Amino acid sequence: MKIIDRIYVNGEFIRAHGVKTMHLINPHNLDVIGKVTLCDKTDVDNAVECAKKRFKTFSKTSIEKRSEILQRLYDAMSKREDELNDAAVLEYGSPITATKGRTKFAKNTFLVAREQMEKFEFEKVLQDNTKIVKTPLGVVAAISPWNADYTHICQKLATAIAAGCTVVLKPSEYSAIQTHTLCECFKDAKLPDGVINVVNGTGEEVGSYLARHKDISLINFTGSTKVGREISLYAAMMIKRTILELGGKSPNIILDDADLQSAIPMALKIAFSNSGQACHAGSRLIVPQDKLEVISSLLVKSLKEIKIGALMDEECYIGPLVNQTQYERVQSYIKSGIDEGAKVLVGGLGRLEGFSGYYSRPTIFTNVKSHMKISKEEIFGPVLSVLTYKDEEQAIDIANDTIYGLAGYVSSTDLQRAARVASQITAGWVYINKAVYGGKGVVPHVGAKQSGIGKNSLDDYLQFRVIS
Ligand code: NAD
Repeated sequence: MKIIDRIYVNGEFIRAHGVKTMHLINPHNLDVIGKVTLCDKTDVDNAVECAKKRFKTFSKTSIEKRSEILQRLYDAMSKREDELNDAAVLEYGSPITATKGRTKFAKNTFLVAREQMEKFEFEKVLQDNTKIVKTPLGVVAAISPWNADYTHICQKLATAIAAGCTVVLKPSEYSAIQTHTLCECFKDAKLPDGVINVVNGTGEEVGSYLARHKDISLINFTGSTKVGREISLYAAMMIKRTILELGGKSPNIILDDADLQSAIPMALKIAFSNSGQACHAGSRLIVPQDKLEVISSLLVKSLKEIKIGALMDEECYIGPLVNQTQYERVQSYIKSGIDEGAKVLVGGLGRLEGFSGYYSRPTIFTNVKSHMKISKEEIFGPVLSVLTYKDEEQAIDIANDTIYGLAGYVSSTDLQRAARVASQITAGWVYINKAVYGGKGVVPHVGAKQSGIGKNSLDDYLQFRVIS
């Protein structure tokens, strides 16, 4: 049982002022694995004060100094990589192969940010004795979700540090063990005190207070569109800058010339990535009407080949949902799909046989129409909605019939055609014949429509100043 009653503030683990606590549950078997003390407003004020004080000097550090810090963070995470992976499997129920991939990606963000910083033009001389100077913006509030704790935290911190900003981080209350392990890395990295400060707590109490704090210059939020709207309101009241990485309901168009033998197993992996709890999940599969039958049987076959629940098995792809709330949410969407007349091709209501944890049955619906909730709303679990089209134009219309615009996918054997279709999907990132980026580091990108604003790039953390 892990007791987390300390928070990492000003370079030390200090006792939280807040007194409320929350149990941490292993989502795989429902064992109680820890207890976290939730912070209160006093903790937030203290953390912001430390970040503000340190900003005065940290904002003036050289590129060389910040480069060293980013390297030390990478090294510290590398030393504790196994511990980080163990924490993610235990607390989040993430299968080991995906966990390892995400931890590596997360630590690499420090090196990618370093590279970007070293090439970045912080000063540009124009004509007539005029120059543009880009200076660190101030204290950043970083608010992150539970679905890829290290990735989101490290991306935010890496860019903030590269820019010369200090940070107060509010991770998800459901990631306390993972974040605490990460904080041990921050301590090992011997950063200047107050560069990174972390407060645990709920979104309603701690997150909203932090986002509205007068000394916060930028709110960098990753989470649901619903909370993103609230953050926008707080920001509007004080004209604060925001980066919002929000929800998605990403379309995956299978063109009629696609190689179904590879495209359909991949489509399933895209939909059920991170046990369906992935912002980029291609949760709407848009297929040619006349190929529905063959695609349906390939989907059923592909699902049978996916390993579920053996979290330490390198082949395992799907784990439990993160918590009871998420389990109930997914169940309610499956019920609404049934009530609205979609056909359950496989899966359905109830817990996956043989498991005591938060395992919702991986479910595929056919006969889905665009107006149904399971087509419109983000479910964030292993539920795939299959919609059909008659021609390419209709496929694109269905793909864009959503308030979201995070990602999109296209499968075709004709790359030019796929690229033409991809260019018409309103989304921040469209993949052709592939499931993930797979490249090194981070490509700053921004969700379209209600999937986000701002792209977590250096410019977003800097104040432009013209001096003439
Ligand atoms: P959430 O919006 O419920 O919470 C995200 C974070 O915000 C948590 O730390 C939470 O405590 C905090 N929070 C909640 N209410 C708040 C408030 N009123 N003020 C300030 N902070 C508040 O999201 P979640 O359930 O933790 O994560 C899942 C969501 O995140 C999904 O919608 C998913 O699509 C989205 N997400 C998006 C991206 C992306 O890059 N676009 C990446 C990962 C996850």
